[in-house]
Amino acid sequence: MRYSQLFLPTLKETPAEAEVISHRLMLRAGFIRKLSAGVYTYLPYGLAALRRVEQIVREEMNRAGAQELLMPMVQPADLWKETGRYEKYGPELLRFTDRHERESCLGPTHEEVITDIVRRELHSYRDLPVNLYQIQTKFRDEIRPRFGLMRGREFVMKDAYSFDVSDEQAEVSYMKMHEAYKRIFTRCGLTFRAVQADSGAIGGNFSHEFMVLAKTGEDTIVVCTACEYAANMEKAEVRLAAGEDVAAMLEPEKVETPGRRKVESVCEFLGIEASQLIKTMVYLADGKPVAVLVRGDREVQEVKLKNLLGVADVELADDKQTFDATGVPTGYIGPVGLAIRLVADQEVAGMRNAVAGANEKNYHLRNVNPGRDFQVESYADLRQITTDDPCPLCGGRLELTEGIEVGHIFKLGTSYSEKMQAVFQDSDGSEKPFVMGCYGIGVSRVVAAAIEQNHDDNGIIFPLPLAPFQTIILNLDPRDEQIDTAARKLYAELVRQGVEVLLDDRDERPGAKFKDADLLGIPYRITVGKKYLQGGMVELRSRKTGVVEEMSLDQLLSVLPSMISDAIRI
Ligand code: ATP
Ligand code: MG
Repeated sequence: MRYSQLFLPTLKETPAEAEVISHRLMLRAGFIRKLSAGVYTYLPYGLAALRRVEQIVREEMNRAGAQELLMPMVQPADLWKETGRYEKYGPELLRFTDRHERESCLGPTHEEVITDIVRRELHSYRDLPVNLYQIQTKFRDEIRPRFGLMRGREFVMKDAYSFDVSDEQAEVSYMKMHEAYKRIFTRCGLTFRAVQADSGAIGGNFSHEFMVLAKTGEDTIVVCTACEYAANMEKAEVRLAAGEDVAAMLEPEKVETPGRRKVESVCEFLGIEASQLIKTMVYLADGKPVAVLVRGDREVQEVKLKNLLGVADVELADDKQTFDATGVPTGYIGPVGLAIRLVADQEVAGMRNAVAGANEKNYHLRNVNPGRDFQVESYADLRQITTDDPCPLCGGRLELTEGIEVGHIFKLGTSYSEKMQAVFQDSDGSEKPFVMGCYGIGVSRVVAAAIEQNHDDNGIIFPLPLAPFQTIILNLDPRDEQIDTAARKLYAELVRQGVEVLLDDRDERPGAKFKDADLLGIPYRITVGKKYLQGGMVELRSRKTGVVEEMSLDQLLSVLPSMISDAIRI
């Protein structure tokens, strides 16, 4: 492609409305233009990147035995009513009526439609397993569309659905998708982790989120530096350290701690470590007070608390709410004799002769012992994991990082098939509901995530497999016949060898061409300029490493195509 003919409007200024780097760079590099909130046009350059992702996804889904189809975007409400989701889905589901007053919606996902197809067409265990997928535009009326393609209202998703005869077989289908996803994101050239998305037992978990690691990710995840373990902060299980020698229990002792309400000041005053203190936090769980105990040097993980209590919402009580619930000012609350619901982090059970609030202003208790001095409703993993904790799988060192969710795989079981009476006849003649799984990839979000992960101050640094063009040739002086001929020759020969090339033949200053090449993030840049006139040399520069090499046209033609084909093969 010749740049002079390409519809590629780049911007010099950083658009004010864009908050994250991928959005800014996509606007500047002529990827996308906004039509309305969360709704974008893909311009040719952006569409080319999107197509690269789609192609990799398609190849790997096919390799894993899935088959592509294409379902409608407009869906009848009746189907959604069968599963109860028409009412339940909430305002993200865009509902409307057509000219015949039929209720409809725009598809945010396709479980209902695919289950309807399968229940009509497949009737026997002999037809299974089957995995069907599509790459299609979804609409979700997101409350806060933002960050460009990262969270759009209209976006491109690959969604796949598997149908199996049994749980075990569904787990086989699940593992195939897990493998396919690993191949997909590896082939995209991205650094990613598969993260357990459920709090279920380690090992037997059938919901994973695939996270591209990038600073601007919406999720904090904890990853092991030694094994493949990765989990959302909210779900990362804390492994309880082996108990130390148990000290003898001493007699409780009330001590005056005037004005000492914070962990640090109590510890300083009493000359103890924060790990010897039991911190008592009062929460409102769906409005009702619950006291939560953690070690003084730990933080409560609110999602874990919410899950333990089985409530919709937990909120730390403010000073007034705390006093109303306990009759004690914040800072002096403790578990001994406290009259509200009490739960504790698992670690607290093993504490000996700890310090805790005395439930009286300006007083704490020494030598508090769980079991002897107070009982709790339950001990559970309720605290935030830290990088000082060992990996729950292998004991290795943990690290925190930010991630962008680009894919989600999920074993659905029979929830949809039962509600929709989607059944098959098993080998023993009995009728059974299909066991399902669903597997999504945010194809357009992958493009944004790739840029979040790979850029510098000058622009995008495309991973080679996703780059719309693999190479850009800068003709630094299109009016010079010799340079022009050399650039064109190089272009024609590279194209002949299957390289995707953009020839910058615009009548622009060299400075502008260098800037645009960096902004666009094309992995290899060849410059044809003065050096060619002087000694027949051109420059090859890697966008990623910045390394520049001088070589002749022949040398370049002998190294570049194989460098590129090697890099996109795995
Ligand atoms: P999120 O928590 O980000 O809202 P989700 O749980 O709603 O995601 P799924 O329903 O599992 O997402 O959709 C599958 C994939 O589609 C997600 O992993 C994500 O990559 C992508 N995706 C979801 N919502 C959007 C959106 N509004 N814009 C772009 N991509 C999206
Ligand atoms: Mg969502």
